[in-house]
Amino acid sequence: MPDPRHDLLIQNGRVIDPSQGLDQPADVLVRDGRIAAVGPNLPAPDSQRLDASGCIIAPGFVDLHAHLREPGREHAETIESGGRAAAAGGFTSVLAMPNTNPVNDSAALTHFIIQTAQQQSPVNVFPVGAISEGSRGERLASIGEMRAAGIVAVSDDGRPVMNSNLMRHAMSYASGFGLTVIDHCEDLDLSAGGQMHAGFPAVRFGLAGISSTSEEVMVARDILLAAETGARFHVAHLSTARSLEMVRHAKQRGLPVTCEVTPHHFTLMDEDIKDYDTNYKMKPPLRSREDRQAMLQGLADGTVDAIATDHAPHPGSEKMQEFELAPSGIIGFETALGLALDRLVHGGLISLTRLVELFSVNPARVVGLDRGTLKVGAVADITVFDPERRWTYDVNQSYSRSRNTPFHGYSLRGGPVATIVAGEIVWQAAK
Ligand SMILES: [Zn+2]
Ligand SMILES: [Zn+2]
Repeated sequence: MPDPRHDLLIQNGRVIDPSQGLDQPADVLVRDGRIAAVGPNLPAPDSQRLDASGCIIAPGFVDLHAHLREPGREHAETIESGGRAAAAGGFTSVLAMPNTNPVNDSAALTHFIIQTAQQQSPVNVFPVGAISEGSRGERLASIGEMRAAGIVAVSDDGRPVMNSNLMRHAMSYASGFGLTVIDHCEDLDLSAGGQMHAGFPAVRFGLAGISSTSEEVMVARDILLAAETGARFHVAHLSTARSLEMVRHAKQRGLPVTCEVTPHHFTLMDEDIKDYDTNYKMKPPLRSREDRQAMLQGLADGTVDAIATDHAPHPGSEKMQEFELAPSGIIGFETALGLALDRLVHGGLISLTRLVELFSVNPARVVGLDRGTLKVGAVADITVFDPERRWTYDVNQSYSRSRNTPFHGYSLRGGPVATIVAGEIVWQAAK
């Protein structure tokens, strides 16, 4: 007999699960960590209860792009602190990029990340393995061994593979293991020295520009290589209108090409950068008004597959330097859903169903995870959110060890309410 004390009944919510075309008022019953039933007025007399009145009950959110900094930079973030911040953002799973110190290019490090996460993180952490040894772009890493150890994709992220032949080998190899290749598309020669998007605001600030072309040539290269090798290719943090146009065209040709957009790239643009504030410095940089408009269009029309945070913690001591010296990146777990609800849903651009696709169903599919669904029998990873709750983001309350964000003080409409991983409530908003 299953013990009813291990049951959880989420009541009175509106279940939105695009994986099975569901959008209806319903309860969700969880038993032994899995979805046991979805339907109205479920009987479960002895179970733990969670009231979801006024809220959406969705399959757990999956962040395809995050930096947890452990091992090597635990002063910026740990698997535990990053996991807590992710839970507070409504994420039940995050993909951990391999640019730790040492780089995750081995089965041993993949094991370490998975074990540490199991012991310390409230959310699932799925490691991404490096494409090349040490992400040095010279020789392929042991992708097969990392696959056996549990990686779910490969990427050299911020140190992208410049050698096209190595990238072609990586794609052939990865596709043999059913792994998606995620690329941070940046031609490092074209972007060298650049600090922000190459537009008028960069001229005004007197800062060297990062051209759109530096991203687009690599998107083009990788689409061609994906077509040649048959690999699944995913564009990380896509930021320009032309990159998006190329992805749209590749999809029309039936290629297995997908892309993600970050909340900062659909919310901000280069003209929003204030006073050399390094909380606006990231890669790719905040782009032009037209690029941001294209991101919104792609989110609305289905070209963009996923919203991913590129959560990139840096301690204040490193961010508080001259713009040229400061590292790139911002934290993003706790603001992603609020920004998406506020700007995209309440902005009239996308439906709640589309939002759940972007945060859950699609990212799970991009890397082939058995998540992103509330089908009976699935692992009970669930995100409960209130599309109407008004709140103000105070970064000083963040679970992250870092504070680098341009969104401190933002008032947002809509946000997470509870995060459930394998049937356990791992985070709940204060009432
Ligand atoms: Zn990147
Ligand atoms: Zn990144």
